[in-house]
Amino acid sequence: MDFPPPQDDEPGLAARVRADQLHLLYEQSYPAVFISLIVALLLCQLIWSEVRHDLLVGWLATICLGTIMRFGLFWLHRRRRPAGLEILDWETRYAVTLMFTTLAWGLGVLLIVRESSLVYRLIEFTILLGMSAGAFLHYSARPYMVAGSMASVLLPTTVWFLFGGLPVETGLGVAALFYMIVLVRASAALSAAQSENFKLTYRLSAAKQRAEMMAHTDELTGLENRRAFFEHGQTLAAYCERNQLPLSVAMIDADHFKQINDQFGHSVGDAVLRALADQLKGSLRKSDVCGRMGGEEFAMLLPDTTLAEAQALAERFCKSYAATPVLGAGVGVSNTVSIGVASDGYDLDHLLHCADEALYLAKATGRNRVVSGANEALALA
Ligand code: GH3
Ligand code: MG
Ligand code: MG
Repeated sequence: MDFPPPQDDEPGLAARVRADQLHLLYEQSYPAVFISLIVALLLCQLIWSEVRHDLLVGWLATICLGTIMRFGLFWLHRRRRPAGLEILDWETRYAVTLMFTTLAWGLGVLLIVRESSLVYRLIEFTILLGMSAGAFLHYSARPYMVAGSMASVLLPTTVWFLFGGLPVETGLGVAALFYMIVLVRASAALSAAQSENFKLTYRLSAAKQRAEMMAHTDELTGLENRRAFFEHGQTLAAYCERNQLPLSVAMIDADHFKQINDQFGHSVGDAVLRALADQLKGSLRKSDVCGRMGGEEFAMLLPDTTLAEAQALAERFCKSYAATPVLGAGVGVSNTVSIGVASDGYDLDHLLHCADEALYLAKATGRNRVVSGANEALALA
C-alpha cells in the first residue's frame, strides 16, 4: 500500500496557510472597527472648537459609513462562518473596506490638520501615528494591508508636513516615513514567521497521522496489521458478547507460497499477496475485520456469523480465489488458499487458536480447502 505523502509536499499547503492567516485576521481585528470610531469621536470632541463643524461632521459621517461597512462584513462573516479555503473569497472585501476606512482617516485628517493650529496639528499627527501602529498590530498577517493602511492613514499628512510645513513638521514627516518603513518591514517578517509556524503545525499533524496509520496498517497489503487486528478484534468480540451475537473467525494461509517466490521471484510473490488481500477485502462486510497476521497468513473476524455461515463464506472465497490467476510481472500465477474456521465463545486468542488448528488440518488433508472447528472435531473423532 502506498502511504500518503507528507503534507508539506502538498501544493495546497501555501493556500491553507493563507486561509488560516485570514481566519485569524477576521477573528482578531474585530475590535479595530470600534476603536477607529471611538478615536474619531474623541478627536472630534477635542478639536470641535478649532475646526469648521461642517468639515468635522462630514468626516465623522464618512468614518461612520466605513464602520458600518466593516461591521456588516464582520457580522456576515460570523453568520456564514466560511470554512477552510472558502475564507480566501473574503479577502478582497476585507481589504476594500479596510482601505475605505483608512483613506477616510488619512484624507479627512489632512483636511482637518490644514485648518488647525500647530499644537492641534501635532496632536492630530500623533493620533495618526497611533492609528498606524494599530494597523501594524491588527493586520500584520497581510503585509500589503499593513503597507496600504499605513500609507493611506499617514502618507497624506506626512507629505503635507514634508513640503509645506514648519521645521518641526518637516522633522516629524521624515520620522514618520522611517516609522512606516520600519513597521512594514517588521510586519513582513512577522507574517513570514507566522506562516512558517502554521506550516510547521500542518507538517507535525500530517506526520502524526502518518505514524498512526503506519502503526496500524500493513504496508504491503493495506490491511490492518496484527496489532490493529487484535485491538479492533477485542472491541468487536466484546460487542458480540454483550449482545449475545455469534462470532466466527477464519485463518487463511496461501498454499505453497514459497514455491511462488522461488519460481517467479519475490516481487511476483508480493503482487500475489496484494491480490489475495484485495480479494479478501472484497469479500468482507463492513462490520468484519480482516488483518495480515504475518507472511502469507491472514485472519478474518466475522461478527454475527455462525460457524456454518463462516464456513460457507470461506468455501466461496476458497473457490473464487483458486479460479482467479494473478497477473504479476506479466505472468499469470495461479494460487490457492487453505482456511480454518472456528466459532467458540468470545475469547479472541482461543478463537484464533481453534481456527489455526483447523487450518493445520486443512493443510494436512490436501490444501485448497476449508476446515471448520466442527469438521475438525469430526475428523479427530
Ligand atoms: P504451505 O502451503 O504449507 O503454507 O506452504 P508455504 O510455502 O506457503 O509456507 P512456508 O511457511 O513454507 O513459506 C511461506 C513463504 O512465504 C516463505 C516466505 O518467504 C514467503 N513470504 C512471507 N512473507 C512474504 C512477503 O511479504 N512477500 C513475499 N513475496 N513472500 C513472503
Ligand atoms: Mg503458506
Ligand atoms: Mg504460513
